[in-house]
Amino acid sequence: MPHPKLIIIGTIALDNISTPSGTVKDALGGSAVFASYAASFFTKPGIVSVVGKDMPKAHLKLLRERGIDLQGLQHVKNSFRWGGSYQGDMNEATTEFTEVAPLLQFKADLPEEYRDAAYVLLANIDPELQLKVIAQLRKPKFIALDTMNLWIDTRKEQLMKAIRQADALIINDGEARQLFNTSFIRHAAEKAMKLGLKYIIIKKGDNGCFMFSRNKAFATQGYPLRVLKDPTGCGDSFAGSIMGYLAMKGNTDENTIRKGIIYGSVIASYNAQDFSLNQLKRLNQRLIEKRYRIFLDMRHFGH
Ligand code: AMP
Repeated sequence: MPHPKLIIIGTIALDNISTPSGTVKDALGGSAVFASYAASFFTKPGIVSVVGKDMPKAHLKLLRERGIDLQGLQHVKNSFRWGGSYQGDMNEATTEFTEVAPLLQFKADLPEEYRDAAYVLLANIDPELQLKVIAQLRKPKFIALDTMNLWIDTRKEQLMKAIRQADALIINDGEARQLFNTSFIRHAAEKAMKLGLKYIIIKKGDNGCFMFSRNKAFATQGYPLRVLKDPTGCGDSFAGSIMGYLAMKGNTDENTIRKGIIYGSVIASYNAQDFSLNQLKRLNQRLIEKRYRIFLDMRHFGH
C-alpha cells in the first residue's frame, strides 16, 4: 500500500445517539471514523486510533473497503464510547457519557511510513495524544487541529501547546469563545493568529462557517437541509473533507482551502441526513458535485 498523504488521529467509537428522529445504540462513530470516511472521497487516508475487541469486524471492513489504511490502529479490550443527544436546532450535542479509558491506554505510535505524511488532521481526541503525533512527524506540510469543550476544560495547557504547532484550527464558535476567552469571534481569530496559526475556521452549525487568515475572511452558509436526522460527525466529516481535498490537490493556498470548505460543507450536510455513517455510505462523486454546484449558485451575485 502506498504511504498515505493524509493521516488522521482521532477516535473510533461506539456511539449511543438520541435525536428527535430516533435513537441508535452502539453505532459506528468517532472523530477518526467520520473524518477518514469523508476524506476518502478525495484521497486514501491512514488512521491513528485505538479500537476495542467489542468493535464489530464489519465496521473496520467498511473503512478498509473505502481504501482507508488501518495500520495505525492499536487494539485493546474496550472501545471508546460516547453518548450524545440533540434537541432544538440540533447544532450542539449534549454529552450523556464519555468512556475515555481506552484513550488512556492509547500510545499513538505512528507506523514508520506515516511519519512522512505531509497532511495531518489532529481530529478531536485528548490533546496529549495530538502532541505525541506531532512529535513523531518528520516533515509535515499542513497540520489542522480540531477539539471540543471537554479538552478545553480539562487539558487547556496541552491543547494550547498543540495549537501553537498547527497551521489551522477548526473549531465551533462556542468553543472558540471559550478557548480564547472572548465573546467575539473576530477577537478569537486575532488571538489565534497571534499563536502562529495561518487559518482559523470557526463553525456555526447549520449557519455555516467563517475562515480567517492573516488579512482575509471567507464565509459560507450551511446547506439548508429538508431532513436532518443526526448531526453527529458533521464537524469531523467537515474537517476530514477539507484535509482530504488539500491532500488530493497538494496545495494549501487560501483558494484551495475555500473550495475545501465548500466540499466539507457539502459532505457534512449529507452526513446529517441519517444516523452514523448511513448517509455517507450512500454518497458518491456525482451527488457531491451536484450539491457543490448548488453552493456555487447560492453564493452567486453580481459585482
Ligand atoms: P462531531 O459531531 O463532529 O463533533 O463528532 C462526534 C463524534 O465524536 C462522535 O462519533 C463521538 O464518538 C466522538 N467524540 C465525542 N466525544 C469525544 C471526545 N471527547 N474525544 C474524541 N471523540 C469524541
